[in-house]
Amino acid sequence: MSINVALDGPSGAGKSTIAKMAAAGLGFVYVDTGAMYRTIAYYCIKEGADVSDAQAVKAALANIDISLKNEGTQQVFLNGENVSDLIRTPEISMGASKVSAIPEVRAFLLDLQKDIAANNDIIMDGRDIGTVVLPDAQVKIFLTASAEERANRRFKELQEKGDPSTYEEVLADINQRDYNDIHRDIAPLRQAEDAVLVDSSSLTLEQTAEEIMRIINEKTAKKKERKVRELMPVRPISKSRRYNPVKLVFYTILRYIVMGLYHIYYDIHFEGTENVPKDGGNVFASNHRSYQDPVFIAIHTRTPLSYMAKEELFKQNVLFTALIKFFGAFPVSRGKGDTAVIDTSIEKLEMGRNLVIFPEGTRSKDGKVGAGKTGVALVAAVAQTRIVPVGIVFEGSLKFRRRVTVRYGTPLTPAEIGVTGTDPRSLKKLKLKIMEDITNLVEKDVNKL
Ligand code: C5P
Repeated sequence: MSINVALDGPSGAGKSTIAKMAAAGLGFVYVDTGAMYRTIAYYCIKEGADVSDAQAVKAALANIDISLKNEGTQQVFLNGENVSDLIRTPEISMGASKVSAIPEVRAFLLDLQKDIAANNDIIMDGRDIGTVVLPDAQVKIFLTASAEERANRRFKELQEKGDPSTYEEVLADINQRDYNDIHRDIAPLRQAEDAVLVDSSSLTLEQTAEEIMRIINEKTAKKKERKVRELMPVRPISKSRRYNPVKLVFYTILRYIVMGLYHIYYDIHFEGTENVPKDGGNVFASNHRSYQDPVFIAIHTRTPLSYMAKEELFKQNVLFTALIKFFGAFPVSRGKGDTAVIDTSIEKLEMGRNLVIFPEGTRSKDGKVGAGKTGVALVAAVAQTRIVPVGIVFEGSLKFRRRVTVRYGTPLTPAEIGVTGTDPRSLKKLKLKIMEDITNLVEKDVNKL
């Protein structure tokens, strides 16, 4: 489901600038609904229709097609013409304020606004987004500032553009638009009950944008955490299932063949092999250097490994897919909070397989260990099973006979560090410990160089 952020507030509170900054910072699409009302006002004024005459404006709607396109910044098109700059005059501001009080105008724009929100992660700014357009938005913010401060900011902006309006005119204009917005019958400007109030009177733009991003992150993270907590009770694996002995014989033969081949192709070294448990059902948490990593790790594990591989790899050719599946890969769709993948991971552990997880997600180009994701801690905490940290270090740039060191660290169970549940604090603690162990294993070597 897409994330919707509703940002409402009076004219001149800096909503559009802030929303643009926050959207860029979070990778969301910014939707400026004021620009839509402005476009309708622009069309009416251009065609000589009186913006205060509801009948004339309603009649004009039939000839208006509005679309938004993201061309680096959001651009507004009226019947195919880019009007983004033309709608930013005081005359159009007042016209927009007037046409926006007409119910048919609001109904005309509502579907367009809802459609955009349904299909994208968005920050939508306006007056009635949290109350009418997106009443179910995950995050609602009401951004305001004193009328004088808002007038001050807009006055400076207009002066920079060479507009002759005086400060008094701008303040009067802001007060008039506030009055119009608050007192209109339909969708008046008001703070939604569940909206967070931000007063930017004494904040800089950057401070305001930071505060908005903080609220968005906090609210969306809370939702995610809650979901995880509800969905993932601890269910320790039994460890009673042994891997099928016949398959194990095949696996062992294969493992020795691969071991031989890898010792020819790479200048490969293993350290800490005494740390590798003899049984299955363990999580191997490793830094990620190459596609070969699961094989490097497997060379010294006696029971077969499973590992998560990105979904795209399963859509290549049939042979490749069959091969990686045979070697234990199963698909994971990235960034979708895929809870099914946690269930599959637990199943693999239950079956007596070992599970390799690369907590960093993507491969590291420079060998430095990046930040880990919580998935590894979640799997280990749910299964309450042993985690073996692994550090893989590449040296030199040779293709053939490149030096590779695979270092297995001391295994750890979540309970040993007091992690017996899947609450966010426990998961974070476990993740940090795992990442610290992996980093130590990798950096041991860097220090030696
Ligand atoms: O935000 P901006 O100043 O560009 O909006 C222009 C006008 O459109 C506002 O004065 C307000 O009356 C109207 N508007 C609205 N509902 C929205 C967005 C803007 O009524 N969601």
